[in-house]
Amino acid sequence: MSIYTCPHCGKKGFTPMTKALAGKMNSKGKPCRNCGTRCVNGKGATIFNAIYSVIVIVFMVWYFLNSQKYDFLAIREIPVFLLLILSEFVVPAVVNAFFFKMEESIRLDVS
Ligand SMILES: [Zn+2]
Repeated sequence: MSIYTCPHCGKKGFTPMTKALAGKMNSKGKPCRNCGTRCVNGKGATIFNAIYSVIVIVFMVWYFLNSQKYDFLAIREIPVFLLLILSEFVVPAVVNAFFFKMEESIRLDVS
């Protein structure tokens, strides 16, 4: 079974692009091309996103503490932080596009 298969109708309803934009379990998701059921990236993606966020935060703290000691780190502090913040959005989206299965959106407050 492909990761782009819709969990509702069983047809290939997503592309890497729509899957990347579907978000994780707490987002409203993207509708399946075939049946229109809103789907999101499932547990695996949600767990990965959470772990990745923690790694980025830990790295930022580490970098901040060490950049006080080394000038060559301090010079790069702002661009590195901007890149890390940007990667919080880009990396999970790229990973979602190519890994993990889809699940039906469990949020009922969107139509
Ligand atoms: Zn479907």
